[in-house]
Amino acid sequence: MPDMERLSFEDAWRGYLKWAHRLPPAPPPVTPQRISGIAEVIGDFDVVILDNFGVLSLGPPVIPAGPPAYAVIRNAGTAIRVISNDGSKELSAMLESHRRRGYHFAADEIYAGLSLLEDAAREAVDGLWAAIGLDPLPVPSASFEARNWSRERFDLDMAVGLLLMDCGNFGREDFRPVLESFKRSPRPVIVCNPDLTAPYSDAMSLEPGYLAHWLADEAGIEPLFLGKPFPEVYRRALDDFPNVPPERVLCVGDTLHTDVLGGRHLGMKTLLVETGFTRGQDPLALADESGIWPDFIASSI
Ligand SMILES: [Mg+2]
Repeated sequence: MPDMERLSFEDAWRGYLKWAHRLPPAPPPVTPQRISGIAEVIGDFDVVILDNFGVLSLGPPVIPAGPPAYAVIRNAGTAIRVISNDGSKELSAMLESHRRRGYHFAADEIYAGLSLLEDAAREAVDGLWAAIGLDPLPVPSASFEARNWSRERFDLDMAVGLLLMDCGNFGREDFRPVLESFKRSPRPVIVCNPDLTAPYSDAMSLEPGYLAHWLADEAGIEPLFLGKPFPEVYRRALDDFPNVPPERVLCVGDTLHTDVLGGRHLGMKTLLVETGFTRGQDPLALADESGIWPDFIASSI
């Protein structure tokens, strides 16, 4: 894992349970069916919604089951949409990194919380926004006046709001001045990546959703979350399929509180894979504890 702050599975899991009240409500339980992979059920679906991190890749390295599964979906003629919570780079850069791993997605097949940022900007306060993210900040320049506070520590009290995009090597200690400033003077917070953590090959990282919930607790702010598990990004991706009923859409992901919760909340079917967040854990015990049950479980996609 690059030079990033690490989060233990326990820290992340306790966070997801503690902060579930800010997420969509858990759908009614189902009994998960264990399958060998997506090839076993692909004929039952018209659209597949793929998560990236933990399903297709672990940061840079490709997950070995990913490219053959990608070929299965393409060969079946099933439509694909990728919905990622990546807030680190423009969609065009995401496409390029997928291409390098052997996944050839078209520009109109990929969505992220960032896809909603321009609309969010229309409702947002004018003025300087402090961002936590990677340079170049993937912010549409016409929509936000944003400066990267994680790079240059300007006076936070000047900012009209906070954009949480990516943690990079920004950690919890670095965030304390933000907490203090926003406790003194609460302002709007927009979260492009609602994930608490991301699974790298050797460890798990701190992600913006963690900081957002922490700030919400401390400063009494209700952040605006863009991305999974919230419904808007799914609706955007599903607009192309007005005649496909939700039960003919399969959402594949590695995280109960993002991919499974978000998909089932809209009536879609879900496949939890064990190559990411839940690796080494008992998925049924996690489903029981969280009340979030996937329709299918597979060791990999
Ligand atoms: Mg994931």
